[in-house]
Amino acid sequence: MTKRVFFFGEGKAEGDSKRRDLLGGKGAGLAEMTGLGLPVPPGLTISTEVCTAYFANPKEPGLPEGVDAEIAEALKKVEASTGMTFGDPENPLLVSVRSGARASMPGMMDTILNLGLNDACAEGLAKKTGDARFAYDAYRRFIAMYSDVALEIAREPFNTALDKLRVKTAQAKGHDVTRINAEELKKKVPDSELSAEDLKALVVEFKAIVKSASGKDFPSDPLEQLRGAIRAVFKSWNTHRAIVYRRMHDIPDSWGTACNVQAMVFGNLGDTSATGVAFTRNPSTGEKKLFGEWLPKAQGEDVVAGIRTPFPIDGSPDSLELKMPDAYRALTKICDTLEAHFRDMQDLEFTIQSGKLYMLQCRSGKRTSRAAVRIAVEQCKEKLITEEEAILRVDASSLDQLLHPTLDPKAPKKFLARGLAASPGAAVGHIVFSADEAEKRASQGKPVILVRIETSPEDIHGMKAARGIITSRGGMTSHAAVIARGMGKACIAGCSAASINYAEEKMTISVYDDAGRQAEVVTLKKGDIVTIDGSSGTIYAGEVPTIPAALAGEFGELMAWADKVRTMKVRANADTPLDARTARSFGAEGIGLCRTEHMFFDEERISAMREMILSDDVQSRERALAKLIPFQRADFVGIFQEMRGLKVTIRLLDPPLHEFLPNDPKQLQQLSRTMGVSVERLQERTKDLHEFNPMLGHRGCRLAVTYPEIYAMQVRAILEAAAQVASEGTEVYPEIMIPLAITAGELDRMRVIVDKVAAEVFAGANGKAAVPFSFGTMVELPRAAIVADELAKVAEFFSFGTNDLTQSAMGLSRDDAGKFLPAYVESGLLPKDPFVSIDTEGVGALVKLAVERGRKTRPDIKLGICGEHGGDPASCHFFQAVGLDYVSCSPFRVPIARLAVSQAALRLRAKPA
Ligand code: ADP
Ligand code: MG
Ligand code: MG
Repeated sequence: MTKRVFFFGEGKAEGDSKRRDLLGGKGAGLAEMTGLGLPVPPGLTISTEVCTAYFANPKEPGLPEGVDAEIAEALKKVEASTGMTFGDPENPLLVSVRSGARASMPGMMDTILNLGLNDACAEGLAKKTGDARFAYDAYRRFIAMYSDVALEIAREPFNTALDKLRVKTAQAKGHDVTRINAEELKKKVPDSELSAEDLKALVVEFKAIVKSASGKDFPSDPLEQLRGAIRAVFKSWNTHRAIVYRRMHDIPDSWGTACNVQAMVFGNLGDTSATGVAFTRNPSTGEKKLFGEWLPKAQGEDVVAGIRTPFPIDGSPDSLELKMPDAYRALTKICDTLEAHFRDMQDLEFTIQSGKLYMLQCRSGKRTSRAAVRIAVEQCKEKLITEEEAILRVDASSLDQLLHPTLDPKAPKKFLARGLAASPGAAVGHIVFSADEAEKRASQGKPVILVRIETSPEDIHGMKAARGIITSRGGMTSHAAVIARGMGKACIAGCSAASINYAEEKMTISVYDDAGRQAEVVTLKKGDIVTIDGSSGTIYAGEVPTIPAALAGEFGELMAWADKVRTMKVRANADTPLDARTARSFGAEGIGLCRTEHMFFDEERISAMREMILSDDVQSRERALAKLIPFQRADFVGIFQEMRGLKVTIRLLDPPLHEFLPNDPKQLQQLSRTMGVSVERLQERTKDLHEFNPMLGHRGCRLAVTYPEIYAMQVRAILEAAAQVASEGTEVYPEIMIPLAITAGELDRMRVIVDKVAAEVFAGANGKAAVPFSFGTMVELPRAAIVADELAKVAEFFSFGTNDLTQSAMGLSRDDAGKFLPAYVESGLLPKDPFVSIDTEGVGALVKLAVERGRKTRPDIKLGICGEHGGDPASCHFFQAVGLDYVSCSPFRVPIARLAVSQAALRLRAKPA
């Protein structure tokens, strides 16, 4: 039987960070820190396997047999090591019961502090510490927390009772509290001002609340409390918010959480106690400097939950550095030790009890992508990690954050307020005051900014839907800040100038001028537009224009390292010279897909296009096409010039023709005049072109089977443009790509068209020198993948159109799947949206088959992918594994793909598929 309960304490731990799967991240960190000899309160970790076993019978979840005894045994060791006894009224051991999964899920699951208290132990604790106020403060916190988490009793009545006590205390001190909100009340009467007697009375009241809500007495037996808390921690693995978070971060449901039971240390014990959170480097900017927040006389939950706004650890008059210099020095030393040990930026929780520092948690710190890049590059330069490790340290898809625009510094702005710069990036949107409203409006396509006093894990769906987040309370490590950074969303936290009223759905901001005088009061209602800059923490009125991101500095260095290790090339999908230029600036090494249909929608062109489509005979069709040629040629010249020296794959016309047809009578009349054909005749022709299922209809190379002139015109434009650009001394490599092929015969026929045109262009009277080009096809239908060996006899390259291939292989319409696909993903029928991340088992198997068969016929066949999957890191891993030559994606995703395919190369080298 595998070990299920792991003790840690006194410099020795039964687990370590290699057992993360079993111990969870928190348990592994505690064990590892203990092993390093750092000051960690002793405790025990119940493994994730116990959690899985707990849920093994979903009808009747329960702890597996024998675990209780193992827990009791480890608890004895904790007692021995602390010299205190669980449930002993003279000298009570109190513990925290903490969740902790393999992957960090901050704030998603539950933790209970101060467990082990009952009336006798509280009295004993008061005597022992000589601080009755502290003992009853701990007791009332415990009852409220345990009731919420383990007994599932609502928090409100507890909060109301606490607020009533605050009002009473305030009045006794002579404060006027008639028109004061809960927030201001808390400031006037902080927890530390509540008297021991009052807290003791509050405990009695709390217990009455429990009795009336549950019909049972609050459990006074510490062992019963402990069992209840452990069950609650395991149960919190399956709360709605935890499940939503797992879906978002691809964390399997099967992992389960571990449960840590740890001796309490008290940050709320007198003036020399405190608690806080620290990062070994700045998680927002990546700067190598201790960064964090602390609160004197508080327990850890106060910082994390944003109940009080904490102070910075350094660089301020309220810093830990100035107020508790010894603890601060001890903390910086531990930071250095831990960073060197884990070789990564650490996020730490600490508590100071009566001047002595204790470590309560360490983990690799969450960071913005800007910080991730800077930290990886700097740690590599510090020789802490290698270049390859640096490449693997940055989550490729998170580069999105860096590639996003920032506010235009020159644009006029109306300043409203400044809060904490909790997560960088700029966002514009309509303000809303609830997560549900955010989700609703976002689903209607409206950009929203979610405004909350503070966020809680219940708001996660709204945060996901919003472009940005504002909170009026909480610090840089509050829930809102941590989650927003993880999501890469702009966030301003602790903006205290904003007063938020949920009931009336409005936010009132006192705007101060430069001299610090209150200049005006602005009230914003639901739906009003604001712009937020998460990098400076500023809120502006209305919409402020943005500018694109800069990609130099550390980002450039990391990308250069990545480029050295990758074996796949990265191209872009680009249809215009401007797209091509953007793609090149992001490092694209060619165009993998140039769609020609967009080129026909310009006003001048569309009418020639319509003439062509509606023509009855070849002559009039060719006449119309002749009008289009100069436009097409000019487009290709522009693109070839931008992409000088690089390959450009051009797909010939693909969509069904009816997409180009006129839809209003005026257009039809005008067309009738230019073509000299009656309106009736044109209408008839339009009707003829109607298709029941255009995606499977007359499109792709099927168009050229019936109207070869169309492709002939396009090929002519391509080759003439290539010849012209080449004659000016620019290297050009066109690749002509046939869409939607299903038989080799189709390709033979297309090849004949291409060769005929090429012969005409290159042997033309104007004596153009031949430009080498290649001929290939899209593989985007299952049949094409299956007969790839045949297709490869004609095609010199394949490009997998994985969007259409997913659609056709799975029988899922991209345009309609939105109605049901989310339900598939949510309920686990599909692991991911197959249009975002390739379905490796099905669609991927077709790609693999086509690769094998294509290579069998033509060993040097060039293979690439041009669906949006090219910019998806998980898909890139698959494409690397099946051995494609390149991926092609939208220009903005090129850097993501460059990093993703480098990581895929490194990972596959370490562990071949
Ligand atoms: P989360 O995963 O949500 O951060 P934790 O288990 O880390 O939850 O607990 C929340 C807070 O409770 C921590 O920030 C820590 O400061 C405090 N805490 C947990 N265990 C102890 C303990 N043994 N002694 C003192 N404080 C504790
Ligand atoms: Mg924690
Ligand atoms: Mg297609």
